[in-house]
Amino acid sequence: KENQDREKDKADRATSEQVLDQRTRMILYQMINRGVVSEVHGAISTGKEANVYGAVAYPDLHGAAVQRAVKVYKTAILSFKDRERYITGEHRFKSGADKGNNRKMVKLWAEKEFRNLRRIHSAAIPCPEPIQLKLHVLVMGFLGDRKGYAYPRLRDAAIGGDDADQLWRQLYIQLLGIMRRLYQICRLVHADLSEYNILYNDKQLYIIDVSQSVEHDHPRSLEFLRMDIKNTGDFFRRQGVDTLSDRTVFDFIIQSAGPVEEPSLSEIIEQLYASRKPSDDDETAAAEVEVDNEVFRNQYIPQTLEQVYDIEKDAEKIGEGEGDKLVYRNLLADQVVSKTAAEEQSSGDESDEGAALDSQDGSDD
Ligand code: ADP
Ligand code: MG
Repeated sequence: KENQDREKDKADRATSEQVLDQRTRMILYQMINRGVVSEVHGAISTGKEANVYGAVAYPDLHGAAVQRAVKVYKTAILSFKDRERYITGEHRFKSGADKGNNRKMVKLWAEKEFRNLRRIHSAAIPCPEPIQLKLHVLVMGFLGDRKGYAYPRLRDAAIGGDDADQLWRQLYIQLLGIMRRLYQICRLVHADLSEYNILYNDKQLYIIDVSQSVEHDHPRSLEFLRMDIKNTGDFFRRQGVDTLSDRTVFDFIIQSAGPVEEPSLSEIIEQLYASRKPSDDDETAAAEVEVDNEVFRNQYIPQTLEQVYDIEKDAEKIGEGEGDKLVYRNLLADQVVSKTAAEEQSSGDESDEGAALDSQDGSDD
């Protein structure tokens, strides 16, 4: 009997420790002492790789309570190993990816999410405000109502009524703008963008879950971008939105020329709609887009000029007005431009916002 009790005790402890282990509790105590959070509430979400908890902070004795969200990455998991593909090739993590050390890996993911959030938040893209990071525990602003209910994921958003169609279209256009700003201003590709990682409230989309987001020059960023475009496009199509082709969206996002701010951004998107090839009927048009999406999704995407097979032949194609068929025509144009600009400057003052962000972190005290 005594033995049985002891076993049960052990099991209980193991279960509770799985949720918040000793180290995590210590970090939370420390954060409570410093007033980063005052109370940590129940889990908003328990995922494979992290749990998210609601929390409240009282910034000063007389101040109103502020809601926060605490994301605790799980340190005892293997699934992070799958995510290696996001980290290899990331210049910010050159020294970091030590497969053997889970705890270190998880800390890296939390750091990555924190830095990405900073960048996205400072670009004024709606997302949680990054507040503090300590090892695998990330504190951020709470996206939800005053009663402590988190905003729904876009997937679960109750969008109905007479204006529903109009609103869905508006949200689609809003998301295209966000993706372009993410790419052009933050130099990031989300890499796991879908209706599950977008929260919704009052006609506004919020981007979350950015630990796997990659730099625009990551060796696979364009592949991830194409996947993000497919996933979000599929979702909006299911809501009945007349979506642009994946290729059109891809070009819109990566093309450096053009606006990054509203309202010009939405105007450009409307122009993209207006300049679509006219078709005899909607059905034919939809079928054509479907075929084009299929082709585009299977196309080889070179990431740099070095990866382009036959640059002269491709340049010729562009000259003959067949450039539309090249996935990377904007990329080519951009690189040629930036190469020339770099050569002209040749002062070697390549900006590295990653490094600039690193030095601001100071989170691991
Ligand atoms: P996971 O890696 O588990 O997918 P997410 O970052 O997507 O982690 O968060 C999981 C869920 O937690 C989200 O779907 C959302 O419901 C909730 N959540 C995450 N961050 C916040 C936040 N800042 N405010 C409110 N809810 C959040
Ligand atoms: Mg998620």
